[in-house]
Amino acid sequence: MIVAKFGGSSLSDSEQFLKVREILRSDPARRYVIPSAPGRRHSADHKITDLLYRCHDLAQAIGSESREAIDHAREYERIFSEIRRRFLDIASALELNVDLEGELDNIERRIPQEPTADYAASRGEYLNGLLLSALMGWAFIDPAHCVWFRDDGTFDSERTQLECAHALLTHEYAVIPGFYGNMPDGTIRTFSRGGSDVTGAIVARAADADLYENWTDVSGFLTADPRIVKNPRRIEQITYRELRELSYMGATVLHEDAIFPVRKAGIPINIRNTNEPEHPGTLILPHAQGEPLAGITGIAGRKGFAIIVIEKAMMNAELGFGRRVLQAVEECGISFEHLPTGIDTMCVVLHKEALDKARERLITRIYELTEPDSIEIHEDMALIATVGRGMVRQRGIASRLFDALSEAHVNVRMIDQGSSELNIIVGVSSQDFDKAVRAIYGTFIDESGGDVH
Ligand code: ASP
Repeated sequence: MIVAKFGGSSLSDSEQFLKVREILRSDPARRYVIPSAPGRRHSADHKITDLLYRCHDLAQAIGSESREAIDHAREYERIFSEIRRRFLDIASALELNVDLEGELDNIERRIPQEPTADYAASRGEYLNGLLLSALMGWAFIDPAHCVWFRDDGTFDSERTQLECAHALLTHEYAVIPGFYGNMPDGTIRTFSRGGSDVTGAIVARAADADLYENWTDVSGFLTADPRIVKNPRRIEQITYRELRELSYMGATVLHEDAIFPVRKAGIPINIRNTNEPEHPGTLILPHAQGEPLAGITGIAGRKGFAIIVIEKAMMNAELGFGRRVLQAVEECGISFEHLPTGIDTMCVVLHKEALDKARERLITRIYELTEPDSIEIHEDMALIATVGRGMVRQRGIASRLFDALSEAHVNVRMIDQGSSELNIIVGVSSQDFDKAVRAIYGTFIDESGGDVH
């Protein structure tokens, strides 16, 4: 049994809805479907969720007799009618029998009465769910009755699992809108942006699905960022752990929180493309079968890091040195990213933004607590992770990586091989970032690739 989630671009207009219907019809195992709100139809278009947030903001500003309030009210009407048009167009092109006008009137009236933006934001998914359920002739399950948050706003996994499983039992085929659920007091609450992925994962777990399909507008994960590497190859299979490493480093297709419910239940995720449904996409598995090409699954990286290098002779013999450095970092409210150490040096890698906020205090505290010989700060650093489950078993990966960087004249400032032996992270100057990613790609994945656009 398959749970299928469709992203906003997969449901942005009536033509996209028909593609989704084709996909659902082509395999009767696809029994539960989670829609997002309509996304952009072209690059200049608006996402419905963005428009709904805007409506909430405008509604908050209405209320006085001032000139501005009148302008806001007009703008509210204008934007809401844009939303109305989008949904009515889909319904009429598909000749759906839904009382959409009634629903829309109700929502337009209610948004200004709601104290938080969550109700407004959730309505894109709600309405798209009604449309998709009418198109398929499937039951509509409102997550307001089975996806729960606690009073403090955190997601209530146990209650949701129980109530979702129960709700699904009564329907063989159903549509469950993504992105929102309910608070114990009956008000609507949403996940963070992109949260329909999370609903999909929750439903997959509650339904005890064999597979969670996540349909989007790309045919899976790429081995490198296409803005840096020309036509990077796709990743066919990746493990949850590798994915975690790559997404930590900035590769994004899935909402981070979407991984946990399905990972816990051992359910694989398949990233698929609604516009290219025959493509197998990327399969995310608890344990992938077979080794990735040349031991490498993918490369990801990010700019905006700083490295603090603390040097002190005989540091290795000084009890509690590391703890004192980290105490200084903690006192400044900074969470560090990596901690590579040498014999007489210790490096703390952190986000540059976090450093900028507490720079002086942090350096002073490290001096006070550790009395080092010197402290150096390298700013404008980029980190690049080369990730692959096959690394553990292959000799020479590190040497090939460093040869490639040296041939490309990239100076490596920091090296960190995770104890998982799943990745090697290097720190390079931000200026060298693109060059370094291309050099690594060229060495491991595709010799002819890796060139500039
Ligand atoms: N529509 C919501 C958003 O734009 C949730 C989602 O698409 O997953 O963030």
